[in-house]
Amino acid sequence: MMETLRYGKVKARKAHVCSFCGCTIPVGATYWRSAHKANGELYDWKSHEKCAELVDMLNMEGDEGVTGEDFYECITDTFGEMWDEMDPEMAESKDFVIPEFSKQRDFVYNHLKAKEETK
Ligand SMILES: [Zn+2]
Repeated sequence: MMETLRYGKVKARKAHVCSFCGCTIPVGATYWRSAHKANGELYDWKSHEKCAELVDMLNMEGDEGVTGEDFYECITDTFGEMWDEMDPEMAESKDFVIPEFSKQRDFVYNHLKAKEETK
């Protein structure tokens, strides 16, 4: 069982690493920070606002919470699906280079946002 002790948005006074995407949270950025207790151990979770939003938008949250691995898998899967839908020819081409993870994440994010706006 995972318990959330504290949860809130804070401003980064030093650079952190996002627990979801593994990218840097730069100084001055607002990010989500939470403290959890699982199996008797305390740990901190830090994430970009964007990554926390993605977890919501893609309904990643399970009973045990979302790990960085789950996040990675979900984003790369979703990216693949979106790309297939938009440009199947390109997606099937062996010359197509899959962009780095942070770009995939941004693509998925922007795509979902655009969809939300046209609803
Ligand atoms: Zn992140």
